[in-house]
Amino acid sequence: MKRKAFHNAAGYKRVLWGLQAVFIALPAVLFLTGCAGNPGGRTEPYSETFFAMDTYMTFTIYGAKAEDSLKQAEDRIRELEGLWSVTDTKSDIYAVNHSGGKPVAVDGETEELLSFALEMAEETGGALEPTIYPVLAAWGFTTGENRVPDREEIEELLNRVDYTGVRWDGGSIVLEEGSMLDLGAVGKGYAGDQVIQLLKENGVTSALLDIGGNIQAVGAKPDGSSWRVGLKDPFSGGVLGVIQVADEAVVTSGSYERYFTGKDGKRYGHIIDPATGYPVDNGLASVSVIASEGKLCDALSTALFVMGLEDAERYWRQNQGFDMILVTVDEGIFVTEGVKDRFSLQSEYQDMTVNVIEK
Ligand code: ADP
Ligand code: MG
Repeated sequence: MKRKAFHNAAGYKRVLWGLQAVFIALPAVLFLTGCAGNPGGRTEPYSETFFAMDTYMTFTIYGAKAEDSLKQAEDRIRELEGLWSVTDTKSDIYAVNHSGGKPVAVDGETEELLSFALEMAEETGGALEPTIYPVLAAWGFTTGENRVPDREEIEELLNRVDYTGVRWDGGSIVLEEGSMLDLGAVGKGYAGDQVIQLLKENGVTSALLDIGGNIQAVGAKPDGSSWRVGLKDPFSGGVLGVIQVADEAVVTSGSYERYFTGKDGKRYGHIIDPATGYPVDNGLASVSVIASEGKLCDALSTALFVMGLEDAERYWRQNQGFDMILVTVDEGIFVTEGVKDRFSLQSEYQDMTVNVIEK
């Protein structure tokens, strides 16, 4: 495979949701292939694209209740966005981040999301760090005014980063002054799970959600065949391979879409290694996680990207219940054994070797 130029992200419009600055003009990290057709010939899908949580979302729903369900799904997403946005002064997260150390009563769903994020922070040895915000902000990823902070500044800010300092007081969150929450690495996955639940309650048996590159499926296609999800080539933006899924989520993290190039010529991505306060630079280009729940995929894709190839492999061996596809900057592909038979390279990448990670 020839390595093509990385995306030049400059010039893309950036807006804020939570702490995220997404290059919204870029296509999704994972995008869909072959899902728009109507192979069964019996039902027409209803599909809509809308902007929420600072990203584009496309929901494709089959069945009699498709249109109604889509409207409800969009409302549900906006409801959760209203709870978790960092910039919306009415959100739970905004209130917690501006509480000056006082307890803040939050919605049950915020409590649930934060509990899950803290649990995953613990599970991943702090690779997922829900209080990374002050460091992320110093690098300018929250405003788009990117800069390379000096080492002392990072050291100083890291003192304010510690998920074990988040405390509960009944249904209230207590955050130390100076600390700030960022649930951007798990919120979209959790939101996807909520939408899937809503669709299933409406009797929907076949749907595909693209939540800013997080792909989540209800069932299979109406004809019973699997959905085909394209895995993006982190180097060119083309489709590297296709993974077949049914009733699962596929979530990718990487630094190839949201990054800036410093005056030193180095590329700095938006996922921060909490151990150093610097953007991840460990040889991984992207990590995709495949599992039944979106929130687990979302938390793990970020955390495993921070861990790097070796630790990600180790984590997978010790914690079953998910599969993963890792792409390295030197163009290696590593897939866990559970996906090897349902992942295939696109024709122009056939000369790449797919390395299988076994238990
Ligand atoms: P995306 O939201 O771009 O699809 P991720 O799910 O990997 O990708 O989330 C990345 C976002 O999570 C960053 O933009 C930032 O807000 C936040 N973040 C960055 N580093 C970490 C980290 N180590 N732990 C938790 N959140 C992080
Ligand atoms: Mg994530």
